Amino acid sequence: MKVFKFGGASVNSVDRIKQVAHIVDQHKDSPLVIIISAMGKTTNALEKVAEAFYAGAQQQALDLFNVIKNQHLTTAKYLLVTHFNECLSQLTDLFTEVEWLLHDKPVRNFDYYYDQVVCIGELLSTSIISHYLQEAGIANEWLDVRDLIRTDNHFRNANIDWAITTEKILQATEDAGAPVITQGFIGSTDENESTTLGREGSDYTAAVFANILDAESLTIWKDVEGVMNADPKQFPDAQLLQSISFTEVIEMAYYGAQVIHPKTIKPLQNKGIPLYVKCFLDPSLAGTVISNKHAKNLPPIIVLKENQALMHLHSQDFSFVGEQPMSNLYKIFAQLNITPNLLQTGAVSLQLCLDDHSDKIEQLAAAAGATFDVSVEKGLTLLTIRHYKAGQAAEMTAGKTPLLIQQTQETVQVLFR
Ligand code: ASP
Ligand code: MG
Repeated sequence: MKVFKFGGASVNSVDRIKQVAHIVDQHKDSPLVIIISAMGKTTNALEKVAEAFYAGAQQQALDLFNVIKNQHLTTAKYLLVTHFNECLSQLTDLFTEVEWLLHDKPVRNFDYYYDQVVCIGELLSTSIISHYLQEAGIANEWLDVRDLIRTDNHFRNANIDWAITTEKILQATEDAGAPVITQGFIGSTDENESTTLGREGSDYTAAVFANILDAESLTIWKDVEGVMNADPKQFPDAQLLQSISFTEVIEMAYYGAQVIHPKTIKPLQNKGIPLYVKCFLDPSLAGTVISNKHAKNLPPIIVLKENQALMHLHSQDFSFVGEQPMSNLYKIFAQLNITPNLLQTGAVSLQLCLDDHSDKIEQLAAAAGATFDVSVEKGLTLLTIRHYKAGQAAEMTAGKTPLLIQQTQETVQVLFR
């Protein structure tokens, strides 16, 4: 069994969907599960619908939803002839599911409504693609993943019930006679309420399927060549990493590289299932393989994170920054769901580098203000280099003002202005 995942960028136009069909066609004769995201920026657009609805702007929510409906209908019209009516009837049922809700008044919390609305993106995209494949002669079975992935009711960041999910996925794939097409990112509670697994969660869904099915591999098809050693938008001479370890990817993601959703790695690593990242525009390219093998001689891996804030905490009464204030501080991090990107302690002071989410920084400053004098500087950039070369960090930050530097044998980080 192989698992494929196609992201939003691989299904955001008629041509790209045709390219997906071309790839599936080449693999359709061996057991295959295909996980697909919502088309392009649909999830962002659906978020706006949920927000308008919750703010009481019902007509605006319906208007915004109409735009999304029309985009999908247009795509379906371009792609389908013989299977259009069948697809239209499925899309219409899905539209109704949302519109029915939008005509209500919100009485539950926002996250609940968010999931009921946003989940539709993946259902629409997979419905169109499944019908298109049928029409192109590629038999497949469309499944509503909400019947398979059982979660708790932690809306917007739901946790999977592995026992029930395993049973359902095994059953459904055993019954399927053709490649299965289903949705990433979404699930459902035992009360049939839709849930989502966190933004960009389709990679994770694919990894869950691969784990449960003991897949021989997971392939994530993207619009890039594979995993690069730096973001090509920031560094045009970025190079492809042909082979890297799960550990390396987790580290890269931790330092802010936008590679693979970090939750994706554990289900694969635990069963030693290799992850291929390949370019759907040119499947003949080798791409990147991520596995338990430790790759030697990696080039420097560079991550630039903008929008950083540096917070200085200085003990008010000159007491040491010892265990008690530190453990209080960590409690505040947990409460506010904050992970500092860098932390350096001194005798009576402490410096933290954080992503600049203004509201959280303010809350943290207020909470820490009981014990410390607090000052904050914003608009900074954090450079991280793994497997760095001597002098590389200084070279890359020449002309800038470094504010905080940390270095281990493997990694150097410079926060600069
Ligand atoms: N469509 C969802 C999102 O944009 C899930 C995903 O793409 O992985 O976050
Ligand atoms: Mg996506």
